[in-house]
Amino acid sequence: MTSILIEIKMAKLNIEIYTAPVLRRCASLVERVTPEINQLVQDMFETMYEAKGIGLAAPQVGILQRIIVCDIEEYEPMYPPMALINPVIIECSGQAIGEEGCLSLPGIMGLVTRAEMVCVTGLTLNGTEVKFTGLDLMARVLQHEMEHLDGVLFIDHFDNMQRAMLKELMLEKSNNKEAK
Ligand SMILES: [Zn+2]
Repeated sequence: MTSILIEIKMAKLNIEIYTAPVLRRCASLVERVTPEINQLVQDMFETMYEAKGIGLAAPQVGILQRIIVCDIEEYEPMYPPMALINPVIIECSGQAIGEEGCLSLPGIMGLVTRAEMVCVTGLTLNGTEVKFTGLDLMARVLQHEMEHLDGVLFIDHFDNMQRAMLKELMLEKSNNKEAK
């Protein structure tokens, strides 16, 4: 039996882990949605699925461009997998507290207060502009991923108690590393 060759090749990218400096830098606007950008988005999806994440921003794979991908279909089937280029929040409302984690901070979870609803604009992979409203988890993922584009991490929202726990955890991690 002959197999059908599929043109799209996907590659897993390396996820940058906190405290990699690239995670703290500001990403640039994408000037044109080229085939290379399309390929990068496919690779970001692949990388996110492999790591079992629900969102990923380009700086997390070391690329300082304003691109995010997310897929929360497993939790909220009404939202299809999505890639947004140059996303901007144009409206937000409400407030919700929820638990978050991040592929760049493995093993760390925390409660973060965010807007309950966000309306965003951005470009699709065709280069056309879309306007999109996300609620609850979708709103949370969009805000989390878009903050990555400005070098902001979810731990920056921690209160003093969570911050103290994080500090201890990081210290423990570095001690473990030294012991090995
Ligand atoms: Zn993240």
